[in-house]
Amino acid sequence: MRVGIIGGGATGLAAAYDLSQLGHDVSVYEKNDFLGGHASTFNIHGTPVERGYHHWFTSDNAIVDLCEEIGISDHIKWVPSTVGTLFDNHIYDFVTPWDLLRYTPLSLPNRVKLGLSSLKIRRLKNWKSIESETAVNWLKNNVGDQVYEAFWGPMLRGKFGEEHYEKVGMAWVWGKMNTRFASRKHPLAKELLGYPIGSFKKLFDTLSEKITSMGGKIYLSTGIDAITTDSGRVTGLNIEIQGEIKHEKFDVVISSTPSHIFDAITEGLSTEYRRNLRGITYMAAVLLILVMDRPLSNKYWLNIADRNIPFVGVIEHTNLIDPSHYNGSHIVYLSNYLTPDSKYYSMTQTELLNAYIPHLSKINPKFSKGWIQEIHHHKIDGAQPIIGPNYSDRMPPHDTGIKNLYLANTSQIYPEDRGTNYSVKMGRHIAQLAITNLCST
Ligand SMILES: Cc1cc2nc3c(=O)[nH]c(=O)nc-3n(C[C@H](O)[C@H](O)[C@H](O)COP(=O)(O)OP(=O)(O)OC[C@H]3O[C@@H](n4cnc5c(N)ncnc54)[C@H](O)[C@@H]3O)c2cc1C
Repeated sequence: MRVGIIGGGATGLAAAYDLSQLGHDVSVYEKNDFLGGHASTFNIHGTPVERGYHHWFTSDNAIVDLCEEIGISDHIKWVPSTVGTLFDNHIYDFVTPWDLLRYTPLSLPNRVKLGLSSLKIRRLKNWKSIESETAVNWLKNNVGDQVYEAFWGPMLRGKFGEEHYEKVGMAWVWGKMNTRFASRKHPLAKELLGYPIGSFKKLFDTLSEKITSMGGKIYLSTGIDAITTDSGRVTGLNIEIQGEIKHEKFDVVISSTPSHIFDAITEGLSTEYRRNLRGITYMAAVLLILVMDRPLSNKYWLNIADRNIPFVGVIEHTNLIDPSHYNGSHIVYLSNYLTPDSKYYSMTQTELLNAYIPHLSKINPKFSKGWIQEIHHHKIDGAQPIIGPNYSDRMPPHDTGIKNLYLANTSQIYPEDRGTNYSVKMGRHIAQLAITNLCST
């Protein structure tokens, strides 16, 4: 069968890999001039590194299996993570569950409550039982206002911003926490995180080589203008090539674009399907990346619990992967999740730097601007869908209601938080579904 795949990220390439292996005629269209989508890379001192920080959890079996299949699993390095929370100009360790007990911003009884709340989430097997609740309500009811304000609140605001954190459903928190718990051998062990040495580019380049060697085609800088349909069946794609639109016929189309883009480019969807697509709000990830001559902190992942600091996470990549891979430089992501109405979304690199710099001495009192060798600024739209209560009632199904047209994007990963592992799993599942459905018609 002729399959058109929109998007050269983890989902699109995983689907293309399986379909090419089965001998189908596959074409992948990617509007950017690079592969990898949200997990794509840029170069620091000639070495690729992700536009937005990336790692894997030990529970990310689908992507680890794929790496094994394509012969790159020996590139994956598993490293104990170092996590901290910045509160009142002090960094508190959150490496092992025992560190909860040393989190002095909370009274001892509240620290115990915090620990018990994590355990309660971990033990909860039926996430459906909490699906109707917002995270804020559930957490406040279960841990009290003080624990919520000192720990869970900053985490939610960090991920979803001031405007949206109250909309997040508790099932999302459950999914997020369980992925993290699963990355520990046992409840009291340290968390291990994985990273492919050579960056995520190694994965996308290898997949691309395998797909093309099996006869698949990958077109970069080639955007899809429309998905055409006739009488409830997909017919093909309108492809934009150097300002010209060309129509190609396909038996099956798989789109990995965000939901609002799918809504805009697809003919013939039902009103109900469009309502679900339009109900999804995405946050953008805004990242200021500092390349420095020395470390900022000794933490890989630093949550910012101080609401006066205008960024919400500090991810120091070189506290996971040794700086020797980057000519001895240290790589620090200052991270924010924002909607386009936020002032930080529209700021230039210099404006962001000026807004952020006064706060870096709260992380390291010795910090000096002179440590910075290079600065990069990346804005990743559609980075994180906001998943509210009872989302399973509104989540758009992969089967779009149009025969042989499938949607597979990050808004359909639930209750787990989106991640490359789940994108690979979804891409491979959709490839299988498309074949099964085509064979049965
Ligand atoms: C800041 C940040 C940090 C993250 N950290 C992690 C992490 O640590 N670990 C992890 O596993 N995951 C992480 N993720 C999530 C992970 O990157 C995504 O879940 C995954 O890459 C999504 O893959 P995808 O293929 O579904 O979507 P995308 O990567 O979004 O790919 C979709 C592709 O479609 C293309 N496209 C869109 N419209 C068109 C069109 N009209 N025509 C042609 N092409 C089009 C886009 O350019 C894009 O390349 C992170 C994401 C962000 C933003």
